[in-house]
Amino acid sequence: MSYPILQLHKGKEISLLRKHPWVFSGAIKSATTALEEGELVEVHSASGVCLGTGYFAKGSIAVRMLSFEASTIDVNFWFSKLRKAYEYRMQLGILNDQTNVCRLFFGEGDGAPGLIIDFYDGHLVIQAHSWGIFLQTEQISQALQKLFGESLKSIYNKSAESLARQKSKEQDNAFLYGNCAELVVKENGHLFYVDFIKGQKTGFFVDQRDNRQLLASYAKDRKVLNTFCYTGGFSVYAAKSGAIHVDSVDSSAGAIDLCKRNMALNGIVEETSLAQDAFEFLKDKKQVYDLIVLDPPAFAKSRESKHKAVIAYKNLNSTAMKYIKPGGIIFTFSCSGVVDKHLFYNTITAAAIEAGRNIRVLHYLNQPADHPVSPFFPEGEYLKGMVLWVE
Ligand code: SAH
Repeated sequence: MSYPILQLHKGKEISLLRKHPWVFSGAIKSATTALEEGELVEVHSASGVCLGTGYFAKGSIAVRMLSFEASTIDVNFWFSKLRKAYEYRMQLGILNDQTNVCRLFFGEGDGAPGLIIDFYDGHLVIQAHSWGIFLQTEQISQALQKLFGESLKSIYNKSAESLARQKSKEQDNAFLYGNCAELVVKENGHLFYVDFIKGQKTGFFVDQRDNRQLLASYAKDRKVLNTFCYTGGFSVYAAKSGAIHVDSVDSSAGAIDLCKRNMALNGIVEETSLAQDAFEFLKDKKQVYDLIVLDPPAFAKSRESKHKAVIAYKNLNSTAMKYIKPGGIIFTFSCSGVVDKHLFYNTITAAAIEAGRNIRVLHYLNQPADHPVSPFFPEGEYLKGMVLWVE
């Protein structure tokens, strides 16, 4: 199959040779034709060497690469890419008899920028973050059907919210295969209702699995506050691991409703789940808790909002540090891609100075192996966290 050719300026092939999958618009010298949003293209160096195949987008990132060679992007192409991603996770034992939920495909980390797929016990949720990937969803769906065969229960395309604004409006979320009524998944032996149709993102924050397990090892005999709890991931682990009491807070009433149901599903009673603003809730909670989880949504979605986001992280963390009991533990996170780990660590230092508390770092945390980060693409690292001991 031949696609339109984009030729780069001299010297601009270097990042592609290092397997960084983005081509910036300034690197492009010429195109063979006028290109449509999302159209597949071949990228060539100034001397005419083919550097790979990708899809075009209007904007500063002009091409996102799907392969570093001349490829035909069809069902077979997607099948081999998806199979690789699946086998990697099986090899690492991420899916096992205690866990039937994971991220099956993580964008650039698995070799296709803009494509996210989560696996929920045989149900798959696809999220296209670009029009180029959205145009591929039918082929991706067919490849997934081939890969999972009989064990596949459904495929849901949940891209309306993740596409750029003008394209989002044109799309509805829809099942591409099968159907799903009530869904319960298992993570490290704990059960969770997942509502990927009404829930946030793809329905469940799969990326906190390892960090929830770590929290379980600190929860025993502690009074726990889980802020930004969503459907209660950290709360269930804490309560099942011997916490004295667990309070869960989230501003979304729908999330709190599911959080309560998830606690009950795991046989947990007499805990408190509140639909409230976490900043408001924390205001008057001096010396109440000895373990606090801070897992807010991305405060910074762009470079422009980075400064404000840093202030919000600092305020949130300094409040928790000020109020936690002596010897308390804080699990604190940021999932803002533009706030890198060094900036986040510095922000936590600033928060401790402001709180006037001495802290020690017990762990530096990140995203789990089913959200792979390639050293060729450090931008893929978005989740960072710290476990702090507060004197
Ligand atoms: N820790 C969760 C994921 C958190 S996602 C888990 O393990 O599943 C971030 C959550 O913060 C969302 O559920 C969102 O509803 C909630 N949120 C956003 N702003 C908030 C605020 N100001 N106060 C409380 N919750 C908020």
